[in-house]
Amino acid sequence: MDIMLREELSKIYSAVPEGDCSGCGRCCHESVGASFAEAEVIYQDIKAMPAEKRKQIIDRIMDYYFDVYQIRRKCPFLSPENRCEIYASRPLNCRIYGHWSRQEYENNLDRLKCSNDKISQVLVEKYGYKVKQDYLDFSIGFCNDFRGRLLSSDERNELYDSLIVLDSKMFVRKGLRLAYEDKGIVEHIVDRLLSKEKIFEIKMRGELSPGMMNRLKNIAVLRIGAV
Ligand code: SF4
Ligand code: SF4
Repeated sequence: MDIMLREELSKIYSAVPEGDCSGCGRCCHESVGASFAEAEVIYQDIKAMPAEKRKQIIDRIMDYYFDVYQIRRKCPFLSPENRCEIYASRPLNCRIYGHWSRQEYENNLDRLKCSNDKISQVLVEKYGYKVKQDYLDFSIGFCNDFRGRLLSSDERNELYDSLIVLDSKMFVRKGLRLAYEDKGIVEHIVDRLLSKEKIFEIKMRGELSPGMMNRLKNIAVLRIGAV
């Protein structure tokens, strides 16, 4: 299953043109969205990492998950040396980052900003949870240093459609029910390791003590490391 998913993802990714840039890592200053198939492959790659590295990544994922609306953190897969720790399996969103025209990229940022504002309103109304303004104001700007062919919106949509088709096939093969939501890699991984509803509640209450955080990190590390 894993090998087949990897092959099918590679076919989709092969349609993204080559690009060239300085590798400054500025576009890796937040976690990105991923499909279920992409998250599955990334999960397996974390699982296969040496124990120490796996622990570092899970710690960073957990910090990111619990602090996301309060503290701005870089993508948890970005190493201290500015390298992507899951480069071979990085999701489509990372691969096409430089291939947007400036206008389309900035329109998309506006759309994301509106969506974040709406989410923050819902969190206040539903949980009394206040998202920090820093989070709402932050965005990764257009990159002027990337060199590569631009993708049209039709080409981008075709790539995303292919991911949706692959997710559907994966769900059918595994006999799972389809429940699409817009999820980042961090949420995909945390949802697989811990009880989604419970930890969301803890996050919304903002009552996570350092002791409880350590316990949750240990549970997550043990679960992903379990054979
Ligand atoms: S695409 Fe741009 S922002 Fe991202 S690493 Fe390359 S130069 Fe830096
Ligand atoms: S997954 Fe890798 S390429 Fe994508 S944002 Fe994170 S560090 Fe950057």
